[in-house]
Amino acid sequence: MSALHDLPPLSRVIAAHGLSARKSLGQNFLLDLNLTSRIARQAGDLSACDVLEIGPGPGGLTRGLLMEGARHVLAIEKDARCLPALAEIAAAAPGRLTVLNADALLIDPAEHLSPPIRVVANLPYNVGTELLIRWLTPPDWPPFWQSLTLMFQREVAERIVAAPGSRAFGRLALLVQWRAEARIVMHLPPGAFTPPPKVSSAVVHLTALPAPRYPADAKVLERVVAQAFNQRRKMLRAALKGLAPDIEERLLAAGIAPTDRAETVDLERFCALARAVAEG
Ligand code: SAM
Repeated sequence: MSALHDLPPLSRVIAAHGLSARKSLGQNFLLDLNLTSRIARQAGDLSACDVLEIGPGPGGLTRGLLMEGARHVLAIEKDARCLPALAEIAAAAPGRLTVLNADALLIDPAEHLSPPIRVVANLPYNVGTELLIRWLTPPDWPPFWQSLTLMFQREVAERIVAAPGSRAFGRLALLVQWRAEARIVMHLPPGAFTPPPKVSSAVVHLTALPAPRYPADAKVLERVVAQAFNQRRKMLRAALKGLAPDIEERLLAAGIAPTDRAETVDLERFCALARAVAEG
């Protein structure tokens, strides 16, 4: 049996280190190691990968990642109270866990990692969405990561994988699906966490595509999509007024009826519209 299996249960770790959950840090911990190993497995074979984990807390998911064979885990945790518990895990997996006490929003993790890199995290929801958008909009593509396996509020997870015509379809779905393959791989009820949050959660697994699905300038596409969904109930000829003088012609050139609404237009046609708008 490896030393990882000999570590005490997480409830005991939390009590021993006085890790009472802080709401301000979005601390809802996963204490069931079968569950954290299941989440780690959703990230695929980690044996040849460096894993970036944001927000390890007392280390339930960190243990799962190491037990599932991750080559190396870089764990970035803002709360210094968690460091002694994480040091115990590092001692049980010599040379395989590095912990940085830092705010994940303020550091560049890529410089501490060697490819191939996979990201796995159970993060506070606001930080998770901000990091997801950052990871999807680097200056160059492909990004530093091969895949992202992330816990989200269920409603956000549904917005990430949404298809045209559904109420959840919008900016987030288009941003993600342009450059990644995304699917929901697990659902978790509030009771899976300690303390339980108010809402259900879901794990989303995203794989970076080698290149965007359809050609478009990232900034123009983002501008078109943002304006289209800003008034999602309006016809696009009205919602996109001001984007270009002859917007109706550009919509038609992209295969979109000027009377269509944003939520019915698929990614391919949004990319065609971004190209038509970029033509000047
Ligand atoms: N991964 C642990 C688990 O599954 O039990 C903890 C999950 S808890 C939802 C979120 C963790 O992220 C907490 O440990 C919190 O301290 C940490 N955290 C919050 N904001 C952070 C930030 N900006 N940078 C790094 N860690 C952060």
